[in-house]
Amino acid sequence: MGKSSKDKRDLYYRKAKEEGWRARSAFKLLQLDSQFHLLDGLNRVVDLCAAPGSWSQVLSKRLMGSDVEAALAANKRIVSVDLQPMSAIAGVTTLQADITHPKTIDRILDVFGGEPADFVCSDGAPDVTGLHDLDEYIQAQLILSALQLATALLRPGGKFVAKIFRGRDIDLLYAQLGLLFDKVSCAKPRSSRASSLEAFVVCEGYRPRPGWDARALVGSGVSTLEFVEKLRATESELERIVVPFVACGDLNEYDSDATYTLEKDAARLSLDPVQAPVAPPYKTALELKRSGLLRKT
Ligand code: SAM
Repeated sequence: MGKSSKDKRDLYYRKAKEEGWRARSAFKLLQLDSQFHLLDGLNRVVDLCAAPGSWSQVLSKRLMGSDVEAALAANKRIVSVDLQPMSAIAGVTTLQADITHPKTIDRILDVFGGEPADFVCSDGAPDVTGLHDLDEYIQAQLILSALQLATALLRPGGKFVAKIFRGRDIDLLYAQLGLLFDKVSCAKPRSSRASSLEAFVVCEGYRPRPGWDARALVGSGVSTLEFVEKLRATESELERIVVPFVACGDLNEYDSDATYTLEKDAARLSLDPVQAPVAPPYKTALELKRSGLLRKT
């Protein structure tokens, strides 16, 4: 789909560019926040799987405001982690790292001077292979890695938000989250297409497991399977729980599945992306093509 036709078909895509967000995902976090007030009174925040950085932009705006120096002096910190490099955002420390790697926790804690986080979020999505079962499995592993990190980073009472796909085993994840948090909800922001299985778990009131040294556990490189086994072992039985499904975002806001007609002048003006990718995967292919080295055999 071309840039200008996508502008018309996806109003959130266009609105993101108009408002200066690097991706339309910004609206998902904003709508989750308007429902759950996730971003009030935070000091230390971790944004996992953060590139190109629209969630980090939202976090920077809310935590740092217009006076970044003052916010940093007041010990406010935001750490954003992604496999891809990210261009700078005011008041945000960006780490190019893998959230499944055991050393990543130390790099985050270095920025916090060892202090725990108030909020951990993850909008992670792996590159899709097209093999449905494999994609679902990798996505599930990514969520568990984000959860593992959250258990090692959050303060008691802290909050965790992660993107999920409501596949067949989602009840099991809810049950696991129920062992770690006082309240778990499944939320669907209006900017997330109704036709997609995407949703977000919003977990409030972190309850560390008694007797667990979560930092040592994550730092030791425990696998997600062992982590889940250990979690299960803390309860005599893993109880399936029903979590509330919450639609967030004002009904007056745009419907992400609808096609809108732009006013004539706006329709003619196609907007450039707010931030070009730092190291897009297609860069090498373009370079090879330009130098005549990319040929069909
Ligand atoms: N929330 C972001 C924003 O608002 O701009 C968009 C995130 S994008 C949908 C998903 C990201 O997950 C990609 O940038 C990808 O590189 C990252 N990702 C996937 N697997 C990862 C991993 N193992 N460690 C770190 N980042 C990962």
